[in-house]
Amino acid sequence: MSDTPKDPNSAPGQAEDPRPTAVDAHLAKGATGDEPPFEKRPAKIGHRERSAAGFTSIWETVHRGARDMGVRRSLRTLTTLNQKDGFDCPSCAWPDPDGERKAAEFCENGAKAVASEAMKARATPEFFAEHSIGDLLAQSDFWMDQQGRLTHPMIRRPGATHYVPIDWQAAFDLIGGQLNALESADQASFYTSGRASNEAAFMYGLFARMLGTNNLPDCSNMCHESSGAGLTETIGIGKSTVKIEDFSYADSIFVIGQNPGTCHPRMLTELQKAARNGCKIVSVNPLAETGLLRFKNPQEPLGLLGRGTAIASLFLPVRVNGDVALLKGIMKEMLEADRRTGGRVLAHDFIAHHTEGFDALAADLEAESWDRIVAGSGVPRELIRQAAEIAAASERMICCWAMGITQHGNGVANVQTIVDFALLRGQIGRRGAGLCPVRGHSNVQGDRTVGIWEKMSAEFMEALGKEFDFSPPKKHGFDTVRTIQAMHEGKVKVFVGLGGNFLSAAPDTHYTAEALQRCGLTVQIATKLNRGHLITGEQALILPCLGRTERDLQAGGEQFVTVEDTTGVVHASRGVLPPASEHLRSEPAIIGGIAIATLGKRSKVAWQALVDDYDRIRTHIEHVVPGFPQYNRRVREPGGFYLPNAPREGTFPTPSKRARFTVHPIADHKLAPGQLLLTTLRSHDQFNTTIYGEDDRYRGIFGGRRVVFLNAEDMKERGIEKDQVVDLVSHFDRERRQAARFRAVPYEIPRGCAAAYYPETNVLVPIRDVAAGSNQPASKSIVITLEASASA
Ligand code: SF4
Repeated sequence: MSDTPKDPNSAPGQAEDPRPTAVDAHLAKGATGDEPPFEKRPAKIGHRERSAAGFTSIWETVHRGARDMGVRRSLRTLTTLNQKDGFDCPSCAWPDPDGERKAAEFCENGAKAVASEAMKARATPEFFAEHSIGDLLAQSDFWMDQQGRLTHPMIRRPGATHYVPIDWQAAFDLIGGQLNALESADQASFYTSGRASNEAAFMYGLFARMLGTNNLPDCSNMCHESSGAGLTETIGIGKSTVKIEDFSYADSIFVIGQNPGTCHPRMLTELQKAARNGCKIVSVNPLAETGLLRFKNPQEPLGLLGRGTAIASLFLPVRVNGDVALLKGIMKEMLEADRRTGGRVLAHDFIAHHTEGFDALAADLEAESWDRIVAGSGVPRELIRQAAEIAAASERMICCWAMGITQHGNGVANVQTIVDFALLRGQIGRRGAGLCPVRGHSNVQGDRTVGIWEKMSAEFMEALGKEFDFSPPKKHGFDTVRTIQAMHEGKVKVFVGLGGNFLSAAPDTHYTAEALQRCGLTVQIATKLNRGHLITGEQALILPCLGRTERDLQAGGEQFVTVEDTTGVVHASRGVLPPASEHLRSEPAIIGGIAIATLGKRSKVAWQALVDDYDRIRTHIEHVVPGFPQYNRRVREPGGFYLPNAPREGTFPTPSKRARFTVHPIADHKLAPGQLLLTTLRSHDQFNTTIYGEDDRYRGIFGGRRVVFLNAEDMKERGIEKDQVVDLVSHFDRERRQAARFRAVPYEIPRGCAAAYYPETNVLVPIRDVAAGSNQPASKSIVITLEASASA
């Protein structure tokens, strides 16, 4: 490698900081918009699979498992994945069946996540000695993932070009020293990714608050913050109101702004069951995603033959962020049908006794013109009428959604308009009906439940203070966007990441990179190397932790952790493999070590005792967080337990004790001539920011990721040919951001819209373009133009 120094440790005192800067070519290669060298081999546009899963999925599972883990490890892990006595899938948050489980209770993507974590390859100190940080940045995310598990704590000292090993205690002391040297605890920020267990998250939140700050941003700030905000205001709880069994009783399921085939694949099993029961599944999305067209269930040998089960009975090709317009259209049809039938469509009794605000919504729908609805949604009125007929005929309807709904400037309004739609026929609080924001990371919901939030309730803070005999800080902390801004402004100087790939997950990659580089210390607790470890503060630590697949041995014996799925089931997760390295520590042990080194005698918490026996952590959670009585006993029951959920039981814990209808305008992005609205999406070979491969077989893309999906008419109008290389330029507040060299792919997508993969396109998302009411980055409605690529 070109710039490996003789002694990577000998850099302190150098006048020039050799860290790649945000505009440095090294970084530009990977994350900030220019086409990286590893993308020079262009993506190929090929045949698109028209049915999800099937034989290819089985082949991918077997082949990746054998390639990365070997046959024996594959069998050992996959036979315990998502089993009641096994470990929880580290990928998405889709629930496991409440009753019996199959021998293979996972999907292709869960298997890829496990293969990625349990792979035999190791990123050792020798690996870091061989590769400078600059060299590593020049590699692809896929390459980084393939380098394997981190084995030792590593430090990048001030001015150094390489990471070198450091022992655990020295790392803890360094963190403690830096945190204690801050003028205020609010100069530190503690980020959590959705992989962290309830136990780790609770300790982490406690530590931050004992230090004196509520700066606890998390990945939920970027994925479902709009769901939490929108639902809490209207139904009193920011979570799903359905159980997994509800899918089997539904008459209709609206899947809105969600691509289950790639993002929550086992949901297809429930949709298949529902479709076979006669349930009408309505897909609302700008792209007709393969998973919602047909499904060949790998669990059914005969089902692998033929064309598979048809899933969606109706597809509504909504414009990007046209959901409020579409839902208003459906509701307007329902109101008109209700009038025609003398009140036989709406749930008038439910509306009268359990809701408020209906009259204002009805008046708004009355006043809304069909022209605006059809133009705003992009969906023909006849399809809107068909959707309304399905909703009006459904005694039990479920609405599911994901980031296609939440990541817009009006993400909260989108969520609340879905709530309106459900309330019209009282579709909350009964079997087979409800609202289901589907979370994308395995324990993102549990982390929030146990205290990871910059603005936890006063009741939580009071209980926490009482339990540990201290005064938690009252001032709200920074969420993800505010943390980035505060780092950029020099107000946050220490950043700690409990898992995740903060740089790649965050919006406005250039700006976020600059923000991280202005910190004095960045700390990443991780299982594997990622790009976020390479854009660092003046000093940086990578602290390697145990993964979900691994046994966790502490002084008190073998431990297990607990997680909460998207339907509010809390259950245990026990790893089965020996740790990837004897130097790894569990997340609770790392947090405990940092807490002891930082707080010393200032804290009365017996941190080491918590690390020794996680039952003790769970006992504290039971005392602080409602819904966890007899936590240690109940979580040992096979399958765990459901947390309380008032709307599921038919009551609404809002101030008025009623669910609220709300009124929202149709989104109008006021696109100038030539502009398009870009939505970001993930490929089928990807989980969040982790890239498992460079194909996306459901969309017919192979061997590369730098593609932009466009409507053929939009391409023709602009004189763009298939496979032509263009630059994407975003426009916000007169600011230009550019992502270079994307191949144009003609695709079934509404006119005026475009789609491309993240994290490559995160560079286009302005840090200040956020959802009103949730501060969530608007990553799925980016105003862009296409420009001729300078280097084409
Ligand atoms: S559906 Fe989600 S949780 Fe289940 S195995 Fe697949 S990726 Fe894992």
